[in-house]
Amino acid sequence: MADEERDGVRLTSLDQPLGDGLGVTKGDLVDHLDRFADRIVPQLAGRPLSVKRVRPGQEPFMQRNVAKGAPDWVRTVPVWSYGAHREVHQVLCDDRRTLLWLANQRAVEFHVPFFQAGAETAPTGIVLDLDPPEGADFDVVVAAAGLVREALDAAGLAGAVKTSGSKGVHVVVPVRGVGPEDAAAATRALAARAAALDPDVATTAYIREDRHGRVFLDSTRSGSSTIVAAYSPRIRPGLPVSAPVSWEDLAAVRPGDVTVTTASGRLGDGDPWTALLPDPQELPADLLAEGHTIPVARVQAMHEGKRRARAKRQAGEGAAGD
Ligand code: ATP
Ligand code: MN
Repeated sequence: MADEERDGVRLTSLDQPLGDGLGVTKGDLVDHLDRFADRIVPQLAGRPLSVKRVRPGQEPFMQRNVAKGAPDWVRTVPVWSYGAHREVHQVLCDDRRTLLWLANQRAVEFHVPFFQAGAETAPTGIVLDLDPPEGADFDVVVAAAGLVREALDAAGLAGAVKTSGSKGVHVVVPVRGVGPEDAAAATRALAARAAALDPDVATTAYIREDRHGRVFLDSTRSGSSTIVAAYSPRIRPGLPVSAPVSWEDLAAVRPGDVTVTTASGRLGDGDPWTALLPDPQELPADLLAEGHTIPVARVQAMHEGKRRARAKRQAGEGAAGD
């Protein structure tokens, strides 16, 4: 068996397939994470981590609670899980050996929120998550990202863009001096302003059937929501990674360009994500005020869904009475 030890962490079955249909070995995952450890760990450090894991013969699964039998040097933080109605202990991946230990469990995707554990009320950034419509060309995502950049620019803000490694892109804006409610509001306002710049290209419609082939600007990834870290692989064939890209190069990029096998050749020893991210910025008061007038998309969609169901029922009753 291809076993070895790195940084005191036992790594096993490195020559085995990572999962079904992924086309890479477990060793390919471990090597990528190890090569990018000094660029990934700073993004994860101090933040409650969720990982998406895979095994041959199994569906991938998201894991928040630390795996049983973790070595005592793996740091964790207790977090109340509203979904699971219990306390979970999430890993704080603060060093290379913790990353390697996770890699050995076939943790492929690394997702973190925009806050440090214990500082939940001090968000470090906001994100606009751009999701393309089914079957669309990536060009529409590029166009929508351009609208977000324009809206940011008009508000005196700057952001950095990366592919999600899956279908869309993430525009990240580091922030400071702002609370979670204001961060969420600013995200809503930016999404609304960007969509208004070209309503044929982008939409903030939370309900899928209302998007009509447009790119969804998702403004809900704040608070306890997470976003995948830059350089994290995704559980898709070939293990594409979430890749930083300059605004200038975005039009030439395709998701899946950068994978665990091509990443080090393309990025070398560089850390474009750190280089592209602007310094944390304060958010303008008018952006916050505007955002607070916009309802949370998920809540609004729930009410709208109920209203439509009621209208449909009433229409049905009307037809029956005719
Ligand atoms: P894509 O480009 O395909 O949209 P994505 O990573 O942006 O890829 P989304 O579904 O848009 O995927 O979700 C955005 C982020 O929200 C993810 O990166 C992830 O961190 C988080 N997320 C989404 N779904 C879940 C889930 N079921 N459990 C935990 N976190 C999730
Ligand atoms: Mn997305």
